[in-house]
Amino acid sequence: MHQYVFDFSQGSKDDKDLLGGKGANLAEMTRLGLPVPPGFTITTEACTYYLDNGCEPDGLAGEVGTHLAELQERVGKRLGDPEDPLLVSVRSGAAISMPGMMETVLNVGLTDISVVGLAARSGDERFAWDSYRRLIQMFGTTVLGIRNESFDDRFEARKKARKTDSDVDLDASDMKLLVEEYKDIVFSETGRPFPQDPRQQLDLAIRAVFDSWNIERARIYRRQERIPDDLGTAVNVCTMVFGNLGSDSGTGVAFTRDPATGAQGIYGDYLPNAQGEDVVAGIRNTLSLAELERIDKTSYDELLDIMARLERHYRDLCDIEFTIERGKLWMLQTRVGKRTAAAAFCIAGQLVDEGLIDEDEALRRVTGEQLAQLMFPQFDPDAPRELIATGMAASPGAAVGKAAFDSATAVAWADEGEDVILVRRETNPDDLRGMVAARGVLTSRGGRTSHAAVVARGMGRTCVTGVEALRVDPSAREFTTTDGTRVVEGDTISIDGSNGEVYLGEVPVVPSAVVDALHGQRPDDAGDQEPVVDAVLRLMNVADERRRLDVRANADTPGDARRARQLGAAGIGLCRTEHMFLGERRKIVERLILARTDAQRETALDELRPLQRADFAEILQAMDGLPVTIRLLDPPLHEFLPDLTDLSVRVAVAEATGNPDAEAAELLAEVQRLHEQNPMLGMRGVRLGLVIPELFALQVRAIAEATAELRAQGHHPLPEIMVPLVAAVQELESVREMARGTLEDVARASGVELTIPIGTMIELPRAAMTAKQIAEAAEFFSFGTNDLTQTAWGFSRDDVEAAFFPAYLEQGIFGVSPFESIDAEGVGRLVSIAAWEGKEARSDLKIGICGEHGGDPASVHFFESILLDYVSCSPFRVPVARLEAGRARV
Ligand code: PEP
Ligand code: MG
Repeated sequence: MHQYVFDFSQGSKDDKDLLGGKGANLAEMTRLGLPVPPGFTITTEACTYYLDNGCEPDGLAGEVGTHLAELQERVGKRLGDPEDPLLVSVRSGAAISMPGMMETVLNVGLTDISVVGLAARSGDERFAWDSYRRLIQMFGTTVLGIRNESFDDRFEARKKARKTDSDVDLDASDMKLLVEEYKDIVFSETGRPFPQDPRQQLDLAIRAVFDSWNIERARIYRRQERIPDDLGTAVNVCTMVFGNLGSDSGTGVAFTRDPATGAQGIYGDYLPNAQGEDVVAGIRNTLSLAELERIDKTSYDELLDIMARLERHYRDLCDIEFTIERGKLWMLQTRVGKRTAAAAFCIAGQLVDEGLIDEDEALRRVTGEQLAQLMFPQFDPDAPRELIATGMAASPGAAVGKAAFDSATAVAWADEGEDVILVRRETNPDDLRGMVAARGVLTSRGGRTSHAAVVARGMGRTCVTGVEALRVDPSAREFTTTDGTRVVEGDTISIDGSNGEVYLGEVPVVPSAVVDALHGQRPDDAGDQEPVVDAVLRLMNVADERRRLDVRANADTPGDARRARQLGAAGIGLCRTEHMFLGERRKIVERLILARTDAQRETALDELRPLQRADFAEILQAMDGLPVTIRLLDPPLHEFLPDLTDLSVRVAVAEATGNPDAEAAELLAEVQRLHEQNPMLGMRGVRLGLVIPELFALQVRAIAEATAELRAQGHHPLPEIMVPLVAAVQELESVREMARGTLEDVARASGVELTIPIGTMIELPRAAMTAKQIAEAAEFFSFGTNDLTQTAWGFSRDDVEAAFFPAYLEQGIFGVSPFESIDAEGVGRLVSIAAWEGKEARSDLKIGICGEHGGDPASVHFFESILLDYVSCSPFRVPVARLEAGRARV
């Protein structure tokens, strides 16, 4: 029979897919003999069965019963026992961590009867009734779908009646009253009493956790983090231990290293006399772990010992949740901890130095996205600024934006293109949309392990938490600081997630030291950034040693070419030439296209040729000694012609006012003749080159002359000529014949031998499917995956983002836009077939890719897997592609 339930003693950390991350790690800690409260895990398979079929799989109830019986046996307590009840927590735990996104129910097993037993056994009546109150609230909201405010309102009213702001001032009689009120809420909202059968509580809580896989915030988080929708969550049923049994109890979260910087040491927050969720929710400000040493040295020492063991065992930074119940330490969770990008690089390097991992493993542990984050700008250290408050450096970066005090405003302003800082007392999972939309997040409460901090770090958002000097008033939409500064909604503020500082107004930002270092300009003193600069350079070296793929850049100005070269580009994979014909030169091109006589055409060409020659000479010089793939002109014809509507109006107005303009009317007729309904599928690329051959000839001549000139000066220009939008080999053959003729002419005239490879873009499905023939006429292929995606899917690349992609992403038709990350099954298959067949026809065919996908990590891995020769991406992404190309080989 299929097994859906596993005891904590039955699994290991490698069972994440089945047991979820939390369950697998609880099992691992149990195996290591660490103090984990006993329990069992219901598998993700049970969840996906439930989600697919709308009911639990056969046998699940029985298995839960068996494991529950074993658990009761082991701890010597029974669920619902009137004398000494067992209580359990029911927690979600997916294979990929989704912190705070799904549901949890604590204290399951308390009833009107067993609460009395708990009070007697614990000797703490208030604690028992508080636990029952918490159960009814969590069960009410999570399982029964009652609004949290219904309960909170009663709680606040009770505090008011007691004339206090603090939960601690409520006593056992208050808690009893609240329990009665909460039960009334349950009855009036659902028409049924709060269930008194503990097993029924358990079953319903398990089902609610299954259901929470699909609540809105969880779905948004998955989309943001690109987590597949069909994984489902495991459910962990664990014996409750209590951190709220007095001052010798407490609960905390800890990291084995600083998750913000990677610095070695012990970092964490501790909250005495509190229950689990209180720390993560950031409701009360926490103590540091150092203070735990003062409060309870024995538990502190044991905790440190366990943390050291965990780090050695996992060979990585771990984060843990623990509870101390009356002086006894319990481990509630561990996992390989989330960390900032800087910490990821630093820790990987440290672990190599400590002999815990090798360089390949270190490379696996950092990502191109993390590198990209480190390349973000930082605040200019020399710029004046007005510091108004300081909190905790929760997630690094420099963010400037208008203060918004709720998620909806943040989203609305971001949609209008504004930079926003989301300001909250503390965030909860419902703030996720606002956090996604904002540049940065600022909270007055919570530590570095609060929801805001954890989520912001995961998303790479700048975040400052726990700014105690801030009084945030969400209803007045403003905050004030203790020294009297007032910031109202819409005011600009700047926050520094690397040191926790908050400034009034805009502080200018400067490039990161990592970017400077990658440019080969190592600052003498990178200050705080020194360790991360070292770590990045070290891992970039490893990546460069491991990678097989070359990385080139898409660059079409000398400045970009130089920048790309500094960032490690092995040449230019795509030099677009369109912009070279725009601006002032557009008029000349217009004259060329509309020329009636050879003489008119020649004049226009004579004007353009020296300009083009100079363009190419500069770029070739910037990339001297490295290949530069120059793509012949590609854009739709209409981009060079006067706007049809403007021109029509001009002609109509002239006629209506009795001053007909014959020249404009003639131009209009020509523009109308050339007008296309669908220019992206119209006269562009090679088609333009075949209809107006002078254009391509001009470009080829300019390339050839620039090359000859530079060679004569002792340089080593290595241009490659690339023909765009080829669908049939005949198109390429025709251009190639022209180009060869021109190259020979220039070689003869200049006396310089010119061997310039001629190749083609593969960016139409027909080209991909006839790659064998095309390869006969091409010395290289470069996949234009932007157009190939557009034409393979039949999606207009200029329109989709606004039109229907949001709906497609929402409905899970794809998890990420195929324009962003290569659609391996469809477009990728076209690339793979064409690359394979191209090589078959011509074994020395050089093959690259120059669409946007060249700088996307997942796509780089795909292109490595099909053994392309190089990827080409924007200059800024070159280091990212280098790193990922290395990672793809380890
Ligand atoms: C492509 O289509 O992928 C490409 C690189 O060309 P462009 O984006 O200029 O159309
Ligand atoms: Mg293209």
